[in-house]
Amino acid sequence: MNKKQIRWRNRIILAIAIFAVIMAAEKLGALDAIFGPYEVYAAFVLYLIPFLIAGHDVLKKAWHNIRRGDAFDEAFLMTVATIGAFATILFPDTEPQMAEGCAVMLFYQVGELFQSYAVGQSRKSISSLMDIAPDYANIERDGKLVEVDPDEVQVGDVIVVKPGERVPIDGVVVEGVSQLDTAALTGESVPRHVEAGAGVISGCINMTGMLHVQTTKPFGESTVSRILELVENASEKKAKTENFITRFARVYTPVVVFAALALAIIPPLAGMGPWSDWVLRGLTFLVVSCPCALVISVPLSFFGGIGGASKLGILVKGSNYLELLSKVDTVVFDKTGTLTNGTFNVVAVHPEEGVDPDRLLASAAYAEAFSDHPIAVSIKQAYSGDIDQKRIRDAHEESGHGVSAHVDEHLILVGNDKLMAEHGARWNECELTGTILHVTVDGHYIGHIVIADVVKDDAAQTIRDLHAAGVKKCVMLTGDRRDVAKAVADELGIDEFQAQLLPEDKVNAVEQLLAREQGDGKLAFVGDGINDAPVLMRADVGIAMGAMGSDAAIEAADVVLMDDKPSNIACAMRISRKTMRIVWQNIVFALGVKIAILILAAVGIANMWLAVFGDVGVAIIAILNAMRCMKVEQR
Ligand code: ADP
Ligand code: MG
Repeated sequence: MNKKQIRWRNRIILAIAIFAVIMAAEKLGALDAIFGPYEVYAAFVLYLIPFLIAGHDVLKKAWHNIRRGDAFDEAFLMTVATIGAFATILFPDTEPQMAEGCAVMLFYQVGELFQSYAVGQSRKSISSLMDIAPDYANIERDGKLVEVDPDEVQVGDVIVVKPGERVPIDGVVVEGVSQLDTAALTGESVPRHVEAGAGVISGCINMTGMLHVQTTKPFGESTVSRILELVENASEKKAKTENFITRFARVYTPVVVFAALALAIIPPLAGMGPWSDWVLRGLTFLVVSCPCALVISVPLSFFGGIGGASKLGILVKGSNYLELLSKVDTVVFDKTGTLTNGTFNVVAVHPEEGVDPDRLLASAAYAEAFSDHPIAVSIKQAYSGDIDQKRIRDAHEESGHGVSAHVDEHLILVGNDKLMAEHGARWNECELTGTILHVTVDGHYIGHIVIADVVKDDAAQTIRDLHAAGVKKCVMLTGDRRDVAKAVADELGIDEFQAQLLPEDKVNAVEQLLAREQGDGKLAFVGDGINDAPVLMRADVGIAMGAMGSDAAIEAADVVLMDDKPSNIACAMRISRKTMRIVWQNIVFALGVKIAILILAAVGIANMWLAVFGDVGVAIIAILNAMRCMKVEQR
């Protein structure tokens, strides 16, 4: 609790203590003994003391709101209800309700305090993520380390990260060996080993050794800054259910207030009983009209769900996406880098007659030098020699086809059948299963390289988990060859696959699948953000994985998985369903209890005590329930 909350709590406790003493004195006959016939007036004044101690700020707020012409808010309702209860002293033919009026204010404040505490608590769960924000970076100047604002560090500067410190900016290790703790970003508890040449991502904690890191991005574009921006904006995108509740509260409250007015006025005018009786029922209505249980618990649930997911490295960009995710019944996967590792092994090198196999591999590696595609990365790894980048000009990437580049005045093409056909080159088929990279030099075919990728460890389990969670169809889309696609689909238990798609074909495929969606079902697309950003945007929910580095993915996706483990998709789905379940539990429960009390109050069975317990009790239970959303477990 913060200072303000502590003062608030103490004020409430004091008021409750005074209230208890007065009530005891009244019940034990002490008031009667002292004040005799003036007992009611004494009680009126005495109960006013705890009432004002606990509720003076509520009265003040109500007064401000009335002057602004904004009635119907909680403070106003509570003020009218409690002042009304005190005013029963004017009806000599009824039991005065001062104790009740005072109690309503006390409990209302207990509920408010609780609510403010719960909201603070769930903020904290998100701000523990905020802790990943670094305040400084170490830079070496004249042989001494100085702390500077990370914003001042230029791209290419070398920063020093001491053991125990957080990496402030994305970069590449130039010196040092260490273990990195990535748990705050990915929820992954196994530390990552890094040494010279390894990329490091801001937000990780450097555990064991001193690292010199050459920055590759400005602070504002580093992973940490982007994540924080994303999480901070998440509460702006509201779920349908959330908007519905806000709209509902806006109607519900005035309706109940007018019903209360009607209940207090019409029956006594019609001669159905004494005024005091009906006015009391009307006041009880007012106490119940407060929609706080809903208005607070629904956003709190979403907030909790998003916060809980972020602890596992699952970043959801808004409650609306959490809600959509719970309705997903079709999950579409990109193959390379999503279901498979994206690290291709060279299976075979098939040069044409008279071509040296090393020359084939070298040509391919040179042409791929400037590409970030998983294929390119793997080929560069497989090529043992150095790549002299000065020899390369006009490197070009054709997505879904391959690459072209000039190396020493020779035009090299590396890619699939489509690329060959497009450039009118001849090529040989290959009987092996795998991704085939054909290579031409100045239009002459010099052979092909067969590469193969392995599926991720947890991919098959993920597909099973998704089916178990109620996903009807898992679809795989790929630009790779049909036989490769089929082998992967069979191995993983994918329901449907489409092969040899260009990036734009993937958009069409997703559009057709969207058209086939029935009823409320939604479609999620999972990709790695490399040349599939348009598809990520087109799907109902775009999920990007392995986003620790890829900017395009963080930008285009609705849900970002920091890790590249497919099992996090199933995990995100479970969190979304749990959140929605809790949201609806709260809606049904809160409305159910309120309606029941309204009915009981209308027929005169419920008194103010029941109403206030109903109202505050329901709010507290709903809030406690909502806080369950924050608890998530990884499987
Ligand atoms: P996926 O759908 O599996 O993610 P892509 O759409 O990225 O695959 O690529 C589809 C196909 O295009 C690859 O299987 C490969 O044949 C070819 N290709 C794409 N990029 C490259 C590259 N950099 N070098 C060689 N071939 C490539
Ligand atoms: Mg891809």
